[in-house]
Amino acid sequence: METRAFQAETAELLNLVVNSIYSHKEIFLRELISNASDALDKLRFKALTESSILAEDSELRIKIDLNKEKGTLKISDNGIGMSKEEVIDNLGTIAKSGTKQFFQKMAESKDGDVDLIGQFGVGFYSAFMVADKVVVETKSPFAEKGVKWVCDGKNAYEIEETDREKRGTEITLYLKKDEDDKENSFLHEYKIRSLISKYSDYVRYPIMMDVEVEIPEEKDDEGKVIKEASKTTETKTLNSMKPLWQKSKNEVTEEEYKEFYKQEFKAWDEPLDIIHTKAEGTFEYTALIYIPSRAPFEFYSSNYERGLKLYSKQVFIMDKCADLIPEYLGFVKGLVDSSDFSLNISREILQHDRQLKTIAKNIEKKVLDSLKYMLKNDREKYEKFWAEFGKAIKAGVYSDFAMNKEKLEDLLLFESSKENKLTTLAEYVERMPETQKEIYYAAGKNRKKIENMPQMEQLREKDIEVLYFYDRIDEFASMSLREYHEKPLKSIASDELDITPEEEKKEVKEKKEKLETENKSLFDSIKEVLKGKIDNVRVSERLKKSPVCIVSGHEGLTLNMEQVLNEAGQNMMGAKAERILELNPDHKIFEVVKKLHDDENSKAKFKDYCDILYGQAMILEGLPLDNPTEFAEKISNLMSAE
Ligand code: ADP
Ligand code: MG
Repeated sequence: METRAFQAETAELLNLVVNSIYSHKEIFLRELISNASDALDKLRFKALTESSILAEDSELRIKIDLNKEKGTLKISDNGIGMSKEEVIDNLGTIAKSGTKQFFQKMAESKDGDVDLIGQFGVGFYSAFMVADKVVVETKSPFAEKGVKWVCDGKNAYEIEETDREKRGTEITLYLKKDEDDKENSFLHEYKIRSLISKYSDYVRYPIMMDVEVEIPEEKDDEGKVIKEASKTTETKTLNSMKPLWQKSKNEVTEEEYKEFYKQEFKAWDEPLDIIHTKAEGTFEYTALIYIPSRAPFEFYSSNYERGLKLYSKQVFIMDKCADLIPEYLGFVKGLVDSSDFSLNISREILQHDRQLKTIAKNIEKKVLDSLKYMLKNDREKYEKFWAEFGKAIKAGVYSDFAMNKEKLEDLLLFESSKENKLTTLAEYVERMPETQKEIYYAAGKNRKKIENMPQMEQLREKDIEVLYFYDRIDEFASMSLREYHEKPLKSIASDELDITPEEEKKEVKEKKEKLETENKSLFDSIKEVLKGKIDNVRVSERLKKSPVCIVSGHEGLTLNMEQVLNEAGQNMMGAKAERILELNPDHKIFEVVKKLHDDENSKAKFKDYCDILYGQAMILEGLPLDNPTEFAEKISNLMSAE
């Protein structure tokens, strides 16, 4: 026998499982049964194309054997089994995301929140919560030899090849002494029965156990006992095997739905909503869909694989059928069972399957309906959803607005200047005064930053509500939306805002034109000094207190978007926003700069002032300066001048 050390991370997890978990130990059974069921699914799927691997052993099942004398509990299956490499890979390392995720959560929780395990399950290793030795004997139908794996839950395991011929896996737990002594020991038949009905009733394969049955005494016609009562053992199936999704809604309790969610989808959160639907007619299918309350692990990374499970007549076909759910709803978990799919359908064929597309469309609609309902009837819950998945919905608007605008625009939530809470676009529009024609937004890192933007001054003064965009994706999504119910969405940092009342427009325009003509040479000089940094200089209508601000041209990128693209390394083409420097003609500085400009002897000073004004505008916009050192130097010089 060969001894191998566990990888450090695995050893650490084992140590945790063995030494610090006292509650919910019973879930080890559900974990091992779920693994056995997975192994049977895999075998059944392989057998679709290679029926020979079933050989004579074609009744797929899980079996539990209790041995009170030896203190062992054995779980065996005739599933796919494992080769030696697979045993090393699967049982010697923490490769599975579920386990890794658990481990992370466990490390995060300060006092080793033992309840986590109930929510999570840690897969195979949970066996060590109740056993001080675990032996795995297994054989894959594709491997020559069987394998035996022995481990006492410490830092190493032993492994050897065997002559096992039976396909499948047999896991023997040597129960810890305190476990097997207990009243409530896992060696009691009734305990196992109750655990199976609690956690594993809907497993699609029979879970069998030899149980003791009483044979009643036999009497003859006169009532004389001719045969004493006796006991015998019979092999019984402990689970109903009816898949949960095949039951009708009123047959399933909330608890059962939730338990199923955790098991079937290796989830650890509570679902926010559950959609169980059956379609009859042209296409027949059943779908059971869960909207999670927490983002799945890696959800916001490119490694994340979305998809629903696909079954045909209760036979598992595929784990992550991506075509069943649009990308922006990738966080949704669930399954579809349709009798209309052939069992050995390939991924390629599925992609073009009209029926699959129809089902996908219906599911998308159901999920969106459920979200809309939630938004309307349980705002608090919806906001929880939004905090977790809002980004995904916004990405949906951005990625395919032609398809998704209508569907998603009413699901969006933003903070706004009105109140410190979230608002829908509909609510915003509802509050708009008659005269307001556009929906305004400001993009920035947080509330405070946005409220300090000079561009906010005018809107605040006019008491116009502004939506606050904190997410990088927000502005891109709003660019895709363009408008909501014919009201254009506009950045307060963009060129022209249509907020001057009709009757004042003419006056304001004339004043502006007059100032711009009068100061043409000043503006030209500023433009010259800031060449390459700005594209235009203008008199500002929007500034009240601040001397300057930078705004973007009304077409194309805004400065904020340019920044986001640069930071994400996605600005390959070096796309640039049009930069317009706006000056506040009513500010003292305007006069100062004008004077400097008119004075032949102040050329250098004028240049410095232009640079400082530009720097200020950039800082107020939350944008990085091209040369902070130079900027600081110029300010210092100014301060040290008398
Ligand atoms: P998960 O079930 O999330 O993949 P587990 O820790 O429960 O993680 O199991 C780890 C891996 O060990 C499984 O993915 C599977 O490859 C393998 N495995 C566990 N039990 C069995 C079994 N009874 N038959 C075949 N493979 C198994
Ligand atoms: Mg598992």
